This record gives sequence, structure tokens and C-alpha cells, in this order.
Amino acid sequence: MTVLLLLLALLPIATLPDVPPQLKCLVESYPGALCSATATELVWCDGTRMPYRTGPERTTHAERLANGDLADQMRQTYTPFVPATPPAVDQEPGRIRNEAFFAKLYGNTKAEVLAHTTRLTWLDGKILRVTTRFGIDQRLAAVRDELRTLPGKVAAPAFQTEGTLVWRTIRGTTRRSAHAYAMAIDVGVPVSDYWQWHAPDAQGKLAFRNRMPIEVVRVFEKHGFVWGGRWYHYDTMHFEFRPELLHPACVGGNTVRQ
Ligand SMILES: [Zn+2]
Repeated sequence: MTVLLLLLALLPIATLPDVPPQLKCLVESYPGALCSATATELVWCDGTRMPYRTGPERTTHAERLANGDLADQMRQTYTPFVPATPPAVDQEPGRIRNEAFFAKLYGNTKAEVLAHTTRLTWLDGKILRVTTRFGIDQRLAAVRDELRTLPGKVAAPAFQTEGTLVWRTIRGTTRRSAHAYAMAIDVGVPVSDYWQWHAPDAQGKLAFRNRMPIEVVRVFEKHGFVWGGRWYHYDTMHFEFRPELLHPACVGGNTVRQ
């Protein structure tokens, strides 16, 4: 039995029986932090086990946003590289975040987050604080360098940034912002649209707005960042590192990178 367990531990996670693809995508997206998974748990490399589902089950999108578990976080599929189109109501893959998961990845206090950061100069000369976890500083540098190569003035809006690390909660909530973890960046504010800046229509529905060039979005997606312009509650200046949603086994639509 011990030998069998040892053999199972040595197998690549893809071959483990009963491990849902969402758990596989999480494990393979955060090497060094996550080491394995069972049918119901993530296994961190420090031995911590984190349940994929926690009860009682949340049935509304608002409940999932406020108190989502890992299953809620992985519930919606992100489709990269496609044109920007109005998302369906509450379709916003990546916007649900399990706070305990991200706090463990990046730090649970501002000091813990800062301990893993470095400086990165953006295209407008602004110096940003970016986490070094999972090579995110290098990935963001690769985004920056690729934006420079886009033709004409396509990427010009993204040359301007409002920053990365901000230790704060999301406006109007007690939930911690992705910016608290130094793995998110806001670019192109003058051409940006945010759902809270506009009143919903008479039926309470948000009207999608976007002026961010899709070429810019595709560069970020190529390097592991999801875009807030693919959310019903749109935030078109916002990009955050969420490789689990871009993993080939979890991504939606056409997975061929453009
Ligand atoms: Zn943002």
C-alpha cells in the first residue's frame, strides 16, 4: 500500500484518477506553491490541504463573489484571444476569487506581499511594484516589450498605467482587490470603462462598453493575464495574472494562440 501511494505521488497529475481538470489546471499553474491534488482537495507544497468545495453551497453569483470557494472560482470558463463582445449577465470568469487561496499564493499582509516584489518600469516611465511569484515580474516585462512592437498607435493607450500594487479592498465591498497581491495592472485609463461609472438601464442591466484595443488584450492573455473587459461587471483597464483560467485544459473556445 505504501509503495502504491509512493507511486501515485510520483505520477504526473494528469494521470491521477478522479482529479477534476479544474484542480489540475490550478496545480499546474502555480508550480512551487501547489504540488498535487486529490478529487476534492488541493495539496500545497508545504503540506497544507485546501478543500475544493466548502459548504454550504452558494447558489447566487453575489454569494459566490462575496464568499466563493475554489469551485466557485473555477466555475466560469475564460475564452481568450476572441474579439470583445458583451458578456452575458454575471458571466465574468476570474472575478470570483477565493481570498484564502490568493493570500496563500502572494501574502496575507501588505508586508508579506511586499517581501516578494520587485520594481518594473512601465512604458510611461512609471515605476511599478510587481510580485516576483511565478515569474510575474518577468511576464509583465514581456507584455511591456511586446506592446512596444505593435504597429502604429494601437498600443498607445496601454503605455499609460495607473499602477499595480495597491493594498485595498474592491470599491464598495470588503473583498480584497487583486491589486493587493501585486499581480494585477491597470493600463489605459483615458480609454477605459468601468461598470460603476455608468448607471444600469431601466431593467437593471449593464450596457457593455469598451475602447481598449483587442490587440493589447491579446498580448496580456498570451502571457497569462486575464482581462476585466471579458466581465459583465466590466473593468477594461484591468489585467490580472490568472494562468489557471488560460490553461489548455480549462480555457474556453479556440485555444490556438493568435
Ligand atoms: Zn485593476
